[in-house]
Amino acid sequence: MSAGTVVIDQEACKGCELCIAACPASVLVMTTDQVNVRGHRYPQLLAGCIGCTACTAICPDFVFQVYRFDRPDPDGDA
Ligand code: SF4
Ligand code: SF4
Repeated sequence: MSAGTVVIDQEACKGCELCIAACPASVLVMTTDQVNVRGHRYPQLLAGCIGCTACTAICPDFVFQVYRFDRPDPDGDA
């Protein structure tokens, strides 16, 4: 079940990982092998986003766009 989702501009990420600790739902995880064109690992979204906007508030590089669903998504992986 997800109440929100985020769009991640992976190419804008510098791999600082601030967003990982800031997410209260613990649904952001850094890639392990994949890197962007600048060589940085970047966050990926797991199911369970609550649309709280903490990630976009803390990210210095405006990587996230946060959306909240009118009704929670039962599949949770949107
Ligand atoms: S806070 Fe922003 S720049 Fe830092 S790892 Fe997360 S998405 Fe990338
Ligand atoms: S909106 Fe909130 S719950 Fe969703 S990924 Fe960002 S910090 Fe985590």
